[in-house]
Amino acid sequence: MTNRTAFVTGASRGIGLACARALASAGAKVVLAARDASKLEAASKEIPNSTWVELDLASSDSIKAAFAKAGKIDILVNNAAITKDGLALRMKKDDWDAVIATNLTGAFLAIQQVLQGMMKERWGRIINISSIVGETGNPGQANYVASKAGLIGLTKSLAQEMASRNITVNAVAPGFIDTDMTAVLSDDLKANLLAHIPLKRLGKPEDIAAAVKFLASEEASYITGHVLDVNGGMYM
Ligand code: NAP
Repeated sequence: MTNRTAFVTGASRGIGLACARALASAGAKVVLAARDASKLEAASKEIPNSTWVELDLASSDSIKAAFAKAGKIDILVNNAAITKDGLALRMKKDDWDAVIATNLTGAFLAIQQVLQGMMKERWGRIINISSIVGETGNPGQANYVASKAGLIGLTKSLAQEMASRNITVNAVAPGFIDTDMTAVLSDDLKANLLAHIPLKRLGKPEDIAAAVKFLASEEASYITGHVLDVNGGMYM
């Protein structure tokens, strides 16, 4: 991946940070992006050949500014996401809007920032981090699930639009991964989840990063429009 530049959203921690490390270890120059500048600066210091930019995916101005600063991008990993869980019956419109804006619209606007450069280069990799629940549904997460299912539809449409330009577009659908996002789950819920994971463990951020690194590689050049499940067998 030498001579390639990767832009990873949500790279300040969790899965995004692991993706940034994995892409850098494969030789890519990596731009780490998220809202928390101090975390990004610290992460960038320990990843060779990396830089960082502040990015708030809920703001189209921030997205434009971040990509203008980052320069030409060959590999985009749309990883950042938030949750604002609640039953649909009582879900506030603000919570619906915030999750769709960051997880789905933010990813779409980020893609728009890199497409022209990739088309000119006749090479590109776009990898959207969806979720197992985007495939199965999940009670209490209608907004998050809609955003993650939306990313799968976006992936497949864009894969068809961009194939003739040698730009591949794929999604990775993680199962339950040990990060800040799942740290808030109760021990009971975690035990219940584990009972439904054939491989009998929560995933690690590195499990997802390995899939992302593969999809970003030259070796994955004939894979597009695919949703790669990395979930310990929880959903097949
Ligand atoms: P996490 O630990 O909560 O990290 C989320 C990342 O997104 C952080 O770097 C955060 O940085 C960034 N972020 C949040 N809002 C942002 C915004 N408005 N603009 C820019 N960056 C923003 O999450 P994770 O568990 O690593 O999850 C990463 C991805 O995997 C997400 O798409 C998630 O939906 C997906 N996923 C996770 C699991 C799981 O079990 N953990 C399962 C399925 C799918 P700042 O706060 O600094 O902005």
